Amino acid sequence: MTTKYEALLEKVYEIHDIGKALAVLSWDKEVNMPEAGLPARVQQMTTLSRFNHILSTSDEFGALIEEAAAELDGAAYDSNEASLIRLLRRHYEDNRKLPPEFVARSAEVSGKARAAWAKARATNDFASFQPWLEQVIELCQEQAELYGYEDEKYDALLDKYEHGMKTADVRAIFDAVKAELVPLRQAIEERGTAVDDTPVHQAFDVETQKQFAHYITQAIGYDYERGHLGTVVHPFATSFSRDDARITTRWYSDFLNPSLFGALHESGHAMYEQGTHRDLARTPLARGTSLGIHESQSRMMENLVGRSLGFWQAHYPQLQSLFPEQLGQYTVQDFYQAINKVQPSYIRVEADELTYNFHIILRFELEQAMLNGELAAQDLPEAWNAKMEELLGVVPPTDSQGCLQDVHWTRPGFGYFPTYALGNLYGAQFFETAVSQNPAILEELNQGRTTSLLAWLRENIHQHGRKFTPGELVQRVTGQPLSHAAFMRYATAKYNDLYSL
Ligand code: MG
Repeated sequence: MTTKYEALLEKVYEIHDIGKALAVLSWDKEVNMPEAGLPARVQQMTTLSRFNHILSTSDEFGALIEEAAAELDGAAYDSNEASLIRLLRRHYEDNRKLPPEFVARSAEVSGKARAAWAKARATNDFASFQPWLEQVIELCQEQAELYGYEDEKYDALLDKYEHGMKTADVRAIFDAVKAELVPLRQAIEERGTAVDDTPVHQAFDVETQKQFAHYITQAIGYDYERGHLGTVVHPFATSFSRDDARITTRWYSDFLNPSLFGALHESGHAMYEQGTHRDLARTPLARGTSLGIHESQSRMMENLVGRSLGFWQAHYPQLQSLFPEQLGQYTVQDFYQAINKVQPSYIRVEADELTYNFHIILRFELEQAMLNGELAAQDLPEAWNAKMEELLGVVPPTDSQGCLQDVHWTRPGFGYFPTYALGNLYGAQFFETAVSQNPAILEELNQGRTTSLLAWLRENIHQHGRKFTPGELVQRVTGQPLSHAAFMRYATAKYNDLYSL
């Protein structure tokens, strides 16, 4: 006889497979599809999305979840079965909270707002985007009410990306980061020795860059037997199963960093998915647990590993041998300094490891003000520039380089931005714990290898997929809740040394 849980799994597999088919269509759209294919592709994706929505919000599916839950009553909290029921219940309730009318209206506004934003950004015309931003803010407010919240409106939205985390917690952590990071940035500007980043700003042949990207992503442990590197305009990682987790990057012929660190970053994401336990396959548990934790894995590979001196002492000779004319005269120390140059800038995606956090804190604070009705869309440019001055000490000359730079506010996605900076903090806290539990991790890293680090991540983080919330995971793995302390210890030591403070 089939148990209720087995019957539930059959449904879960169907929903999962449709979702992954959608992901393949989406990956192909970004990597391979000729532009003319777009209208048909959008139709195909809309059809599959509709099927998935119907299956995952049906009364029968809800009943099946509850029947299986009753059958499993008493299963251990961290068992696969109990974990799956918890996740399915939460998704089912959330999906049912948004009426189809709201979802359709949201999609329509987002589509039009995106087109208006692209034009406004290209022509530096904030006024033409303002009415769309007003609608997006209203959608966010409506969405927060539909999801519901206890303390703050922003909690309802943040919870979708970082389940269980409260706005007040994030605010306290970000305030602590600000209090220590602003003085560090100022000290670098006022007293730091000059850092020359000419080594990374030269002509670099793209095919040779690709060759090195394969070499270096393999060196950190990304498995190409179960992976693939593609070229896109906006890089991302995606997975169709643990045995097919892909990365993408973009290539610049005059700047080494975007492709190199982009590839390391996306490999960190994909390695997380490659490391989920086999037994979680075809269920929503077989993924990274939250955007913030996912970002901790990518930032760790990009920065803590990929921008460390020991790692480059091992791999720089290989890079030099591929680019002898460009790098032959520069030492590994020169290169290490060049890839870690701190320079307050207007554009988030071009920011260095330290000042990146300010770009996120600024957006987090402005999103709350807009959501709570304290900041009107028309006043955004002024508020943006004031925060840039406060946090980064620079003011963008145009709105295109200011509040119009990101695509995110063309859709009701408030609550997403903070996960980028949370990733830096989780990453540092995990890394510090890993090294304290196994000092060999650091010794290996100084020889250019991540074998023990990856084993530690697999054991403590990757294999669990989404069984635990981010808060549960960080407590379980590090013995403490998330804090800014490990990141600040790492950043202070590294940059004091780099800038001889
Ligand atoms: Mg990322």
